[in-house]
Amino acid sequence: MPALTARSLTVRYLAALGLVAFLSITLHFVVKDMLRTSEGSAEIINMSGRQRMLSQRIVSLALELDKGDEAARAPMKAAIEQFGTAHGKLLRAAGEDIGNSAEQARLRDTYFGAAGVDKALKAYLAAARRIAASPQDAAGPEAEQRAADLAFLVSSARGPLLDGLEQVVAIHQAISEEHIRLLQLIQRGIVTVIVLTLQIEALFIFRPMVKRISGYVRQLMELADRDYLTGVSNRRAFTDLARTEIQRARRYKRSLSILLVDADHFKQINDVHGHLAGDAVLVSLGKALENGARREDILGRIGGEEFAMLLPETPLPEAREVADRLRRAIAGQPVNAHGKSIEVTVSIGIASVPLDAEDPLTAAMGTADSMLYKAKEAGRNCVWPQLTQVDADSGVRNLRG
Ligand code: GH3
Ligand code: MG
Ligand code: MG
Repeated sequence: MPALTARSLTVRYLAALGLVAFLSITLHFVVKDMLRTSEGSAEIINMSGRQRMLSQRIVSLALELDKGDEAARAPMKAAIEQFGTAHGKLLRAAGEDIGNSAEQARLRDTYFGAAGVDKALKAYLAAARRIAASPQDAAGPEAEQRAADLAFLVSSARGPLLDGLEQVVAIHQAISEEHIRLLQLIQRGIVTVIVLTLQIEALFIFRPMVKRISGYVRQLMELADRDYLTGVSNRRAFTDLARTEIQRARRYKRSLSILLVDADHFKQINDVHGHLAGDAVLVSLGKALENGARREDILGRIGGEEFAMLLPETPLPEAREVADRLRRAIAGQPVNAHGKSIEVTVSIGIASVPLDAEDPLTAAMGTADSMLYKAKEAGRNCVWPQLTQVDADSGVRNLRG
């Protein structure tokens, strides 16, 4: 896989986000359509049911009117109007394009084809209207027509009309079920794609993103602990590491020592060879100290041309030996900076860390600094350990390395 840049990750993230947004919106419309379809078919099914009821009512009112009950005329006319209006609506629904499926073809066929529900309903309506309009005292052909119409109403209402309307309801139900099944399929498909997209996003976008960010954080934390020039720990990191080490030494009552290493006449090196050469000397000093240190020793650049080294498990006499070895290594290896060979020496102040002090590190650094001052005073390029009680008792003076 090619390396992922922050930009390509962002593009992927936005693409996935856009896809999920698009699918969610589509899902919204699918669900809306499902609701609309089921509402629409419920209304049509309801209306078809009412048609069946009205057809029965019209027949019974016609029979009453025929018996001479004039009060039946008005409700019969109203029922005929309702029936007619509903029929118009159902016809329109049958004509609408709702999926163009086989069921819809069947619906059209039921209305207009061989089953001829439309024709039957229109004939039924026409007969009912004639009855509702014919006067009580009709005679002759008019009375005959009415009798024929009444017989037609009774026979249609009993069988074919009801069957036709029943068929219409069944077809509408089938159409709506088919439509909803299709929408459900689409809905499931969309939900599956959304879930897959989110999983892919987690796997191929978020995971590398988190990896990359934690990598950056690690790098930043490392950079924050390093001195930019020499690459050794900076003062803050040195102090933290040293404090932790001192805590451990305190627990196990182990002695440790500290060295304060300062380049001699460094200002002069800068003045004579230039600041860049001075920098190269500092880098080289850092390396020399690092090479001379053990793995458990803690080294840091704590000032301009000043380094500190904490030596765990090391009493003063050993620390003095370490310091002198370092001093000799540095003095014996001139630094090659930009083609120039620069001789450099260091002075080293040495102190043991007073584990019972309130702040052992600060105390030890203070003592080491005083010893460094003495080393400078003694002529530089030397090590100067703190005077121990044993040294003081035996009258031994600090040894110049
Ligand atoms: P001494 O032997 O007494 O220690 O003398 P010195 O010249 O080394 O000490 P001083 O404190 O007078 O000068 C230290 C010089 O180190 C002054 C400063 O410009 C230089 N210095 C500090 N940081 C850097 C740095 O990062 N790069 C360079 N090139 N020089 C630095
Ligand atoms: Mg110096
Ligand atoms: Mg200095």
